[in-house]
Amino acid sequence: MKILTLLLTLLTFSVQAEEYEAVGVEVKAQKLTGDAYYVPGMSGAATEYEGFISNAGFVVTNEGVVVFDALGTPSLAHAMLGEIRKITDQPIKIVVMSHYHADHLYGLQVFKDEGAQVLAPKGTWDYLDSETAENLLESRRTALFPWVTDDTYLVKPDRIIDQDIKFSLGGHEFMINYFGKVHSDGDMSLLSVKDQTLYSGDIIFEGRLPFVGDANIIDWVKTLERMQHTQVDYFVPGHGSASNQPQQTMDLTYRYLKFLLEKLSKAVEDMEQFEETYEAIDWSEFEDETAFDIANRKNAYAVYLFLEKTLD
Ligand SMILES: [Zn+2]
Repeated sequence: MKILTLLLTLLTFSVQAEEYEAVGVEVKAQKLTGDAYYVPGMSGAATEYEGFISNAGFVVTNEGVVVFDALGTPSLAHAMLGEIRKITDQPIKIVVMSHYHADHLYGLQVFKDEGAQVLAPKGTWDYLDSETAENLLESRRTALFPWVTDDTYLVKPDRIIDQDIKFSLGGHEFMINYFGKVHSDGDMSLLSVKDQTLYSGDIIFEGRLPFVGDANIIDWVKTLERMQHTQVDYFVPGHGSASNQPQQTMDLTYRYLKFLLEKLSKAVEDMEQFEETYEAIDWSEFEDETAFDIANRKNAYAVYLFLEKTLD
């Protein structure tokens, strides 16, 4: 009987081990306050640190767990689930996705398998239906192998959020703020009211310059301006450290985006060429920031193209 139990245990273990390749990076949950936690990713480019470059969070209630974002590979999400299981046996009830970008998304299937309902912002389907989403997953199956494999798939949302909503679970109240197309095709944040903890997603990058991509920089800056008056105890950005100084956490992203917007709006209005504009701008305020070398020129060009279309 004992041998049978042992065999079964070994079998179960090997099946699980086969399902998701173990991670080499340290995935650790940190308690912020009350029932609110986060898993801090490392500061790096998309495929560095086994793809562990974004944050995720979770709030434990006595009727289940609410997860915020799903990390960049199923292996990472599986490790995060292990961290949650050290704290509670409550089921994973809801995953609130800040937005659908690879570095926050590929772990989602782990929580889906746990029976979670996936809430995603309006605009998610634009991403899911795009060739970009498909091509990126294909390339990450190589770049992030063996953590992203042929078994990794894009989980579809169960519910689309297109306005601010409140919901409660196990004595906790939650607020989702829907921002529209800001950093991505759709972005939203989650506030755990009792814990006064705000999970912002990628509208905030702390400790490094943001990735602008095809963002709507005008709405992004406006969103941050509204958010600056938010009073919370803890603030968890999409990338970088959580802190109890919300204004400080969003400072770099806000200053940088406002700088890009001002400088490049002027260039577009004056019909200046991008190359000359870029060379003429004094970037010294930001050139020592992490990711300046890999991101700044791309960001500036993306903003230039966006403004050219918008200010026409
Ligand atoms: Zn991100």
